Amino acid sequence: MADVLQNYINGNWVSADSSGLLDVENPSTVEILARVPLSTAAEANRAVEAAAAAFPGWSSTPASRRVQPIFKLAALLRENEEEIARTLTGEMGKSLPDARAELKRAIENCEVACGMPVLQQGDKLIGAAAGIDGEVIRLPIGVFAMIAPFNFPAMAPFWFLPYAMATGNTFVLKPSEQVPLTMRLVTRYIDQVGLPPGVFNLLNGDKVAAGALVDSPKVDGISLVGSSATCRVVAEQCARKGKRCLAMGGAKNHLVAMPDARIDKVIANMITSCYGCAGQRCMASSAIVAVGDDTYKKVCETFVEQSKGVLVANPLDPDYADRDMLMGPVISAKAKNFILNMIDEGIREGATLALDGRNIVVPGGKDGHFIGPTVFTDVRAGMKIHQTEIFGPVVVILKAATLDDAIRIVNDHQYGNGASIYTQDGYLARKFKLQVNCGMIGINIGIPAPVAHLPFGGMKASFFADIKTRGKAIVRFYTEEKIITERYWGED
Ligand code: NAD
Repeated sequence: MADVLQNYINGNWVSADSSGLLDVENPSTVEILARVPLSTAAEANRAVEAAAAAFPGWSSTPASRRVQPIFKLAALLRENEEEIARTLTGEMGKSLPDARAELKRAIENCEVACGMPVLQQGDKLIGAAAGIDGEVIRLPIGVFAMIAPFNFPAMAPFWFLPYAMATGNTFVLKPSEQVPLTMRLVTRYIDQVGLPPGVFNLLNGDKVAAGALVDSPKVDGISLVGSSATCRVVAEQCARKGKRCLAMGGAKNHLVAMPDARIDKVIANMITSCYGCAGQRCMASSAIVAVGDDTYKKVCETFVEQSKGVLVANPLDPDYADRDMLMGPVISAKAKNFILNMIDEGIREGATLALDGRNIVVPGGKDGHFIGPTVFTDVRAGMKIHQTEIFGPVVVILKAATLDDAIRIVNDHQYGNGASIYTQDGYLARKFKLQVNCGMIGINIGIPAPVAHLPFGGMKASFFADIKTRGKAIVRFYTEEKIITERYWGED
């Protein structure tokens, strides 16, 4: 009988007051790994109450003391990297090297957050007026909640969790109901680092539990990483309630290849970007724009040829587990169906199915949710397969006459998370980075995901917020700035 997950509330593991259980599945083998409770609104409110009760003590703890548990957590995550990475791969399906890299990014976020005693410092203007000084102080706000997606079970929560706690706020995390095991394991380590009860709480569930967090008058701010449709709903609710909201949504990231691009290096780079994590990264590329007839021909031929060589396997199969470029399954039967329907749609729209991954056979993965690398050529901007975030290993290749046309294709798209250009020409690269309306730009980099010391976030329908996450930016999300104007009179 698969084990039933518990919530972690006020420093204790508690059985959920739940309206049902959902199977957590290994997407490579469809083995049931555990059952996750769908916590009710009442349970969500208990987690919020615990966080609210912990806030006065935690917010008045000096910043240098608040970061001590986060130092310890980073060390514990590093020591237990392999166990966490294997849990992550088991429930999510990405390759083990990808899972280890994800965990490294989570740890990196702890390291950045440990700099909070410096990052959270205020500003002082001596002599704002005659005998009057001005001061800006950054204070913690209260309870923050985070609602996480399935594709980065460890890293996405860590874009927020260590920063929220280091700035003096308390926190409720709702992991994705599809991949709750990684953060359960991480929470076992959080439990050992000496945080006061209630500072961190883990609430399992689906949109009912998430909705209760958004609804609660005691939650001061929400961060959400998920599809743009979910972001839009949550951002609107937060706006109506006057809550802070940082919501990061879907993507369709373009790779633009110029005629002078080093095709020998570029294609391998595109392959990792498009097929890593089976195309289920928010920074994965799924649209290639080749500029000029010759570039288009070369890119189509070489990309399709190299796509055929991508290894598709169960990422925990010991024969392949440490391969850097291995493509596992997509997350669920539902996701696989959606992707297959999108492939049918592309054929109906008249694009050329240059490589068909629909009938791939994976040894030992007969029932797993595998789809092989799939490539459409002759794709026109505006086709559904170009407009939609397919979130699978399906790549569309378009042709543009000039760089201006390529930039127009990227800018006309609803999403604006990331985009990259391949060129050796600094002038063209500069034009691209200034004119493309995407939050994260790569120059000869297929996955322009910045390190944790820098901010992260897109534009247009990929981003529903004013402030980006991580780095120095996130400090403003998690603190209230007060501006003080002061003067003292001397003895007359
Ligand atoms: P999803 O929107 O289905 O779910 C995300 C989370 O929102 C889950 O925890 C879910 O329980 C919760 N949720 C669903 N409906 C809700 C509602 N009405 N109210 C409140 N919460 C709700 O997304 P997913 O399939 O888990 O993740 C994949 C999506 O996330 C893709 O679109 C991907 O591009 C995006 N993503 C974006 C980034 C980024 O940085 N922009 C990073 C990772 C993933």
